[in-house]
Amino acid sequence: MAASRFLFFLLTAHRSLLTVLPALITTMENYLPLRLGLKIDVDTRQGFREGVPALAEILEARSIKASFYVSLGPDNSGKAVFRVFTQRGFLEKMWRTRAPAMYGLRTMFYGTLLPAPVIGEGAGEILRLLAEAGHEVGLHGYDHVRWHDHLLAMGREEVSRELARAQECYTRHLGRPARSFAAPGWQCSAAHREELAAGGFLYSSDTRGYAPYFPRFGAEVNALLEIPTTLPTLDELLGFNGCCPEDFTELVLSRLQKSSVPQVLTVHAEVEGGPLKGDFARLLDRCREQGVEIFRLEDWARELLAAQDKVPAASVRQGRLPGRAGTVSCQGPLEAQR
Ligand SMILES: [Zn+2]
Repeated sequence: MAASRFLFFLLTAHRSLLTVLPALITTMENYLPLRLGLKIDVDTRQGFREGVPALAEILEARSIKASFYVSLGPDNSGKAVFRVFTQRGFLEKMWRTRAPAMYGLRTMFYGTLLPAPVIGEGAGEILRLLAEAGHEVGLHGYDHVRWHDHLLAMGREEVSRELARAQECYTRHLGRPARSFAAPGWQCSAAHREELAAGGFLYSSDTRGYAPYFPRFGAEVNALLEIPTTLPTLDELLGFNGCCPEDFTELVLSRLQKSSVPQVLTVHAEVEGGPLKGDFARLLDRCREQGVEIFRLEDWARELLAAQDKVPAASVRQGRLPGRAGTVSCQGPLEAQR
């Protein structure tokens, strides 16, 4: 009799546990911290001079520290217009994002009808202010357009020259070399990763993907940690199927809520620090409401490198993304063995 009562108790308990389990998991998920790495790419002189200070103010007001990656060479943005002949989807993206209004008319002629101004010239004060405010300051190549359009055809020597020029300018202004890098246009090659690995960098953020990894090119696994951008960018989705900045914010939040690993969002000084700065500030406020912890990529890199045996390898391949013209370097499937 006692045994059957015990069996009845077990069955009832088991059944009620099954009933409450989904709710219990949802509650636990709600208490797991949502983590977002904030990566800010600076591509142009206008983005550097106007977008960076505007973003620094927005971040300061919310006590957020982020990772900035700056192109320090000539602003050849005007040359990017020639992508209309080489990249599928370029004209559509220019039209959809109202690029001339977003980037400024002057920028659209730099390097063609107007001389290309060198972003790093006189850049010391802004770079120092960023570093003193506690933001991470990394490199975003030297000549952004050249890297974006020609990296895959460059050998190690050419890549080395681009990196050396950027590093020389950075060191002149900040008194130490950069330790982090983000590839312009998410263009990543074996040659540039080898140069970065040999150049004392801590990590790089060069690809689009879903989780940190060590990139494999053929049989070779690169020794430098890669932290990919995991979320789409605002300018990729803006106007796409009627997407507005508020829809984008909700998409970021829903991806954070569904994911068990931190997410990485890339914003552009020219866009989120320019005409869309109000929308970006609202995105940060929504994140704060939802308890999202925003961090610098270098802090996560240190955490990951402390247990780097657990970080898997993955191949890198060129792929297309919705709303982006041309191809970008994408993370392949994770491989357990390195
Ligand atoms: Zn860029």
